[in-house]
Amino acid sequence: MVNPKKIAIVGAGIAGINTALELQRLYPDFELTIIADKFNSETLSDGAAGLFRPETYCFGPSFDISQEWINDAYNFYKNLLNTEPCGINEISGYTFSKKKEFTENHYLKKCLPTYRDATDEELLQHSTENSIKEYGSFCTSIVIECKRFLPWALKKITNNGGNVIERKIHSFDEICDDFDFIFNCAGLEAARLCDDKELVPIRGQILRVKAPWVDKFYYDDFDTYIIPSIEDGTVVLGGCRHFGSHDVAAQQRDTDTILENCIRLVPSLKEALKSEYKVWVGLRPYRSRVRIEAEKIKSAVVIHHYGHGGYGVTLGPGTAKYAVKLLLSYL
Ligand SMILES: Cc1cc2nc3c(=O)[nH]c(=O)nc-3n(C[C@H](O)[C@H](O)[C@H](O)COP(=O)(O)OP(=O)(O)OC[C@H]3O[C@@H](n4cnc5c(N)ncnc54)[C@H](O)[C@@H]3O)c2cc1C
Repeated sequence: MVNPKKIAIVGAGIAGINTALELQRLYPDFELTIIADKFNSETLSDGAAGLFRPETYCFGPSFDISQEWINDAYNFYKNLLNTEPCGINEISGYTFSKKKEFTENHYLKKCLPTYRDATDEELLQHSTENSIKEYGSFCTSIVIECKRFLPWALKKITNNGGNVIERKIHSFDEICDDFDFIFNCAGLEAARLCDDKELVPIRGQILRVKAPWVDKFYYDDFDTYIIPSIEDGTVVLGGCRHFGSHDVAAQQRDTDTILENCIRLVPSLKEALKSEYKVWVGLRPYRSRVRIEAEKIKSAVVIHHYGHGGYGVTLGPGTAKYAVKLLLSYL
C-alpha cells in the first residue's frame, strides 16, 4: 500500500492527457492536478491529423522500447475503439513511394495484423498518367480525432477526481513545494522550461477540406499525405516539414504545393476545392529521442515526458505508460 501522493501534470496535450489517464488507472488514490495554459482546441495536439502511424526512426532508448511504446499505444486505442465514442476510428490506407524502403514500416509490420505489401493490382488501380505507383504497402490502422478525444479524456479525468488549473508556469520552482511529483508534458515549451537545446520545432502546414468520399488514408513521396476524418467528412491534406522554423503563419506556397501533390495522388480531391477549406500550421516538438527521465528539483521529482515530434498522437499512450513507470522507484 502506497501513501497517496500529490501529482501535477504540466500540459494538457496528448502527452499530458495520456499521462493523467495512466496515473488514474494505476493510482486512483493519488491527488492529480493538470496545470496548463492551453486546453483542447488551443493545443497543438488538437490540430494533428491523428493517424496512428510512426516513422521508422528510433524514438526511445532503443528500437525495442520504441516498439513497446507503439504496441502499448495501439492496444490502448484499440481497446477504446468499440467501447467508447471518443473520436477513435479504424481506417485503412496505403503508403506509396518510388523507393521500396520508404513503403516499409518495421514498427507497423510488428503491430498491425493487416500490414502487407500492396498488390500489383492495387498499384495499378492507384496509378494515374501523372503518377505511377511503383511500390506500396497497405494496412488498417486507427485515426484519433483529438478534437473529440482530448475533451472526452479531460472530462473522464475530472469525473475521476482530477483537478484542472488554467495557468502558465514559468519555472518548475513555482510549483515544486506543492507537489510530490511533476510530469513535464509541456511539448515544445519544454525547450524554455528546461533549457533543452535538443528540442526544436519542425513546422508543418495542413489543409482541411470537405471530401466525404475519401475513405482511405494515403502517403506518398515529398511528405504528401491525405488523412480522412471518419467523423465529419473532412480530409487533412499535407504536408511539409520545416526543421527549426518557428513561423506559425500559413504560407501560400506551401498550400499550393500541398494541393498539387495531393490532387496528383487522389485526383477527385479537385472537386473538394470548390468548397472552402481551412489552413492550419503547427510546430512539432522534435527531439531525436523522446525525453522520458526523472530529475529532482527541490523536494519534488520532475518526470520529463516530451519531444514526440510528428508522432505524439501515435506514441502518446505508450510513452505515458513508460513515464508513469518511473514513479515506481520513488514510491
Ligand atoms: C501538421 C501536423 C500534423 C500532425 N499529424 C500527426 C499525426 O497524424 N499523428 C501523430 O501521431 N502526430 C501528429 N502530429 C504531431 C503531434 O501533433 C504532436 O506530436 C503532439 O501534439 C505533441 O503533443 P504534446 O502533448 O507533447 O504537446 P501539445 O499538444 O503542444 O501540448 C502541450 C501542453 O503543455 C501546455 N504548456 C506548455 N507550456 C506550459 C507552461 N509553461 N505552463 C503551463 N502549461 C504549459 C500547453 O498549454 C499544452 O496544454 C502532427 C503535427 C503537425 C504539426
